[in-house]
Amino acid sequence: MDITTTTCPRCHKIVDKQAITCPHCHLQLKAYGHPGISLHRATGEEFLCDSCTYHADDSCNFPQRPYAKECTLYQNTQESELELQQLREANSFSNTVKNWIRRNQSLLLLLALLLICLIIAILQL
Ligand code: SF4
Ligand SMILES: [Zn+2]
Repeated sequence: MDITTTTCPRCHKIVDKQAITCPHCHLQLKAYGHPGISLHRATGEEFLCDSCTYHADDSCNFPQRPYAKECTLYQNTQESELELQQLREANSFSNTVKNWIRRNQSLLLLLALLLICLIIAILQL
């Protein structure tokens, strides 16, 4: 499976990410016949809202809330949390500095040697 494919939630066969319906079991995968609008479905007994970010932050005003079994706007709270955490880590200043030091170790070593040479030269004057 590559980045352009995914698995069908019903028959678990590989399907194109843009597919509006599953070519194998004909399950509807996108809403309104548009390849850009994913249609999320609850797989078990639970409602989608139970694990949705917009239910957790009380910003959803869809009439089917909190009993949605299908929803186009559903966003998994755990995935959002993970994305947020990755974004935070990527943006953290200390991380940037650490990465820069790791990438430029030889340059820093050279600068340190130059500094030591400079100090020795000044002391001998
Ligand atoms: S966006 Fe959909 S899944 Fe999320 S709380 Fe609203 S109705 Fe429920
Ligand atoms: Zn299918």
